[in-house]
Amino acid sequence: MQENEWVTGNVTLSINGQPLSMSMTVPAGRVKPHRMLPIFQQMSNTFVDMGVSEVERAGKSISCKAGCGACCRQAVPISEIEAYHIAEVVEELPEPRRSEIKQRFSDAVEHFRSNGWFDRIQEVREIAEDGRKEDAIEHLAELTAEYLREGIACPFLYDESCSIHKDRPVACREYLVTSPAENCSAPTAETIDMVPIGISPSKTLVNVGNTGRLAHIALLPLIRSLELAEQFPEKFVEKTGEKWMADFFTMLTQSDIPDSARKKPSAISGSNGRKR
Ligand code: SF4
Repeated sequence: MQENEWVTGNVTLSINGQPLSMSMTVPAGRVKPHRMLPIFQQMSNTFVDMGVSEVERAGKSISCKAGCGACCRQAVPISEIEAYHIAEVVEELPEPRRSEIKQRFSDAVEHFRSNGWFDRIQEVREIAEDGRKEDAIEHLAELTAEYLREGIACPFLYDESCSIHKDRPVACREYLVTSPAENCSAPTAETIDMVPIGISPSKTLVNVGNTGRLAHIALLPLIRSLELAEQFPEKFVEKTGEKWMADFFTMLTQSDIPDSARKKPSAISGSNGRKR
């Protein structure tokens, strides 16, 4: 089988009671999971578009637009496969942008390492493992709010717009609001109205292709991508595109890959979602 051979299949899901049919073209041969990201990203876009249509039907409009980077100072949660993808995206940037962005990553990591944020986020896991789930959720909320208050912009933010829009993490795609954009600089449950998404690929991606080598990190923020990709050279297994999709749908819906209408997956809370 040739490396550049592709196969196309159809999937039908039921999201919040609405049927969604998708045609997906995936590599026929064996690939590493981060090569599947464009397909997972496209699926995420489709789910988000459905949520946007729903809120627009309800007479609301999306506040997020290019030039507003209010939410791009949050701790963006990413998956292992996205960390390696982001590292590759940076390596492919032309100079001097590449060096500039690497310096931004390094400065951001140094900032949160020196103020102890990385250590404190590890405590969330310890609290959860201690059986104190409510305390862990509260502690996580405090720490993500603290991260935002530090005002450290995402290394990819230029002129308050995302400079890797096509490659941005899935969590960024899932964060869209109808509440006033200025509320995103100090978000609370009362002041932020997120677009509801029936399925959350960002949460599923955390498990797709997961090697366990970064499992010791309680929350993997985007700013640690380069550091970790260098420290732990990529060792993903290879599977066919169809097998990766089967894995993805199994995790997404807690059932086997669908070939007909699916049962409704659980809705997400959007607690640590991102935008655009
Ligand atoms: S990747 Fe882009 S959208 Fe996501 S936080 Fe960074 S600048 Fe914002």
